[in-house]
Amino acid sequence: MGALKEGPLRLDELSLFAIGCRRLGLGGEARGIARGSKFSLPFFMEFLTVAAMHLPVRFQPLYQARVWGGRALARVFPRTLPGTDPIGESWEIVDRPEAQSVVRDGPLAGMTLRDALHLRSADWIGPDWPVTRPFPILIKWLDCRERLSLQVHPPAEIAPAMRGEPKTENWYLAGVEGQAGLILGLKPGVTPAQFEAAIHANTLEQCVNRYSVQPGDSVLVHSGTVHAIDAGCLILEIQQNSDTTYRVYDWGRMGLDGKPRKMHIAESMKSILFEEPPPPIVRSADTAAVIADCEEFRIRRTPVKKGAQLAFAAGEQCRLLSVVRGRLRARGLDVAPFIAGDNALLPFAGAFNFEADEDSLVLVTENFS
Ligand SMILES: [Zn+2]
Repeated sequence: MGALKEGPLRLDELSLFAIGCRRLGLGGEARGIARGSKFSLPFFMEFLTVAAMHLPVRFQPLYQARVWGGRALARVFPRTLPGTDPIGESWEIVDRPEAQSVVRDGPLAGMTLRDALHLRSADWIGPDWPVTRPFPILIKWLDCRERLSLQVHPPAEIAPAMRGEPKTENWYLAGVEGQAGLILGLKPGVTPAQFEAAIHANTLEQCVNRYSVQPGDSVLVHSGTVHAIDAGCLILEIQQNSDTTYRVYDWGRMGLDGKPRKMHIAESMKSILFEEPPPPIVRSADTAAVIADCEEFRIRRTPVKKGAQLAFAAGEQCRLLSVVRGRLRARGLDVAPFIAGDNALLPFAGAFNFEADEDSLVLVTENFS
C-alpha cells in the first residue's frame, strides 16, 4: 500500500480531513496526527469511513398512509408527520427494492441502507454477511385506528411456491386504548372446511381467539398464524424482511367504494396452519427478559434505570436498539440522544455504552439469520 505513504498532506487536504473529523465528533487530536503524518489523503479518508461505520445509525422514518391509520406517532413521540393523511405505518429500518431506509444524520446522512451495506457490510453486520443479501429485519411502528383485516403470512416451506416470503413478526404494544385486543390463531378444532364456510357466512369472528392486552405486552406471531389487530393499538413490529400478506376476512366491512375489499382466500387457505395453537402473550413487566426467541431473531426487553448503563462490546454481532420509553445517551459519542420511538442499528464493529437520562425501557433485537 505504498500509494498511501505520500504525505505530508497539503493544506486543502488537511482541511478536508478536518471537516470529516468534525462531522464524526472527533477532537483536534486526529487532525494533529494527520498534520505530521507520512500518510496520504486516501489513508485518512479510509480512516474516516471506518470511524463513520462504527457509530450507531438511525434512519429517516418512511411514513405510509393507510385507511386504518391515524396520527398517534406525532402525539406519543416528538415527531412531525407529513401532510394530514392517516399514517398507519412508519417503516423505521428497511432494506427492500421498493423501500430503502436512508441514514438520518451523522457522517453517513443521506446514504441508503443498501449502499452502506455495499460499502462495508462487514463493519455493519459482520465479516460473514454476503454483501448482496438484504438486511434481514424490518422494523415498523403501527398506529391502528381501525381494526385490521384478518390476515396470514405464508410459512417458509410453502412461500417460494406461492412467490411470496415468510414473515414471522413480533408485536410490542406501546399503547392500548380502552378494550383494544389482538386476534390470534384459531379456536381448537376449527377445520379448513368450517373456516371457509364461516368466511362466506360472515361469522368468522366465532372461529378466532381474541385476547385483551395491556401496554407493555408482546407476542411473537409465526408465519401461518391468522391474526388481526384491534383499533386503538400502537405497536412496534419487529419482523422478518418481507411484505407478503394474504387478507382473508374483513369483518363484513365494505371498502371506501362500498364494495368488499380484495381478499386472498385461496392463498390464505394454503398458508394457515390449522393445527397450530395460538402463540402465548408475554405480559408486561419492568424486568429484563427474552420476549421473543425464534430462528429469525431474538428480542430482549431491557429496562435501564436512570443513571444506569447498557454496554455492547465490539465484534460480537449487529444489533437493533428500540427505545420504547425514556431517553439514553451514547457515552463518548457526539450523537443526538436516543428517545422514545427511536430505532437504531448498532454496527457489528462498534462498541457502545448507553447511559439512561431517565428510567428507560429498550428492546434489543439480535441473533438474526
Ligand atoms: Zn402480519
